[in-house]
Amino acid sequence: MNKIIVAIDGFSSCGKSTMARELAQQTGYIYVDTGAMYRAVSLYCIQNGWLNDSEMNESEILANISAIKIDFKTNNLGVSETYLNGKNVESEIRTLEVANGASRISTLGFVRRELVRQQQLMGLEKGIVMDGRDIGTVVFPNAELKIFLTALPEIRAKRRADEMTRKGELVNYEEVLANVIERDERDQNRAESPLRKADDAITIDNSNLLPAEQTEILRTLFAEKTFS
Ligand code: C5P
Repeated sequence: MNKIIVAIDGFSSCGKSTMARELAQQTGYIYVDTGAMYRAVSLYCIQNGWLNDSEMNESEILANISAIKIDFKTNNLGVSETYLNGKNVESEIRTLEVANGASRISTLGFVRRELVRQQQLMGLEKGIVMDGRDIGTVVFPNAELKIFLTALPEIRAKRRADEMTRKGELVNYEEVLANVIERDERDQNRAESPLRKADDAITIDNSNLLPAEQTEILRTLFAEKTFS
């Protein structure tokens, strides 16, 4: 069976990571969550005082971008976790503050170029499922299977709010919805690699799909690409 690259792009909170992680587990492929990489850069900038609600110190970020090392390690439950300069930051990067910061630093061309370079190295041997916003358009324009995942903003906000509630966080649905809409807007309208569907990507709208139905669609598409 030939190894391929699977690129999964789409709006925030529409289940790209769940879909990508599950496919990687089923196929033995490596899974890379590129959003986690932008979040890790955001966390580093917040911790160093270069990024807050009103300001972003681009020259400090540029001067220090090569000091930011991001890795993924699999924990003993088989789940991939994000490390920033050797420290496990998996839960710290999942806050709304870090997500908002990620959406802002991801507009910087030099941040994108550095992370895209690292992502391309990870895919050299194929056998990888990568999710993000620009995987099928910029990181791997020749990926054999490209998915563009989407769902209604209200449904995405509800899922995200439920997930945060399950983790014991205090959540305001309206705030989560506003965050989803704001990030969609920024992702689609930034000058550097805006979120858009690659011409050869297959759109899956999962607003009304059960997880099992989505899994089935993806498995079929994957099988078509790898057995041909
Ligand atoms: O996917 P996730 O919500 O974790 O991504 C966090 C932020 O990182 C997104 O809002 C998006 O702006 C940015 N991002 C990006 N390109 C990627 C992955 C994420 O610009 N490939």
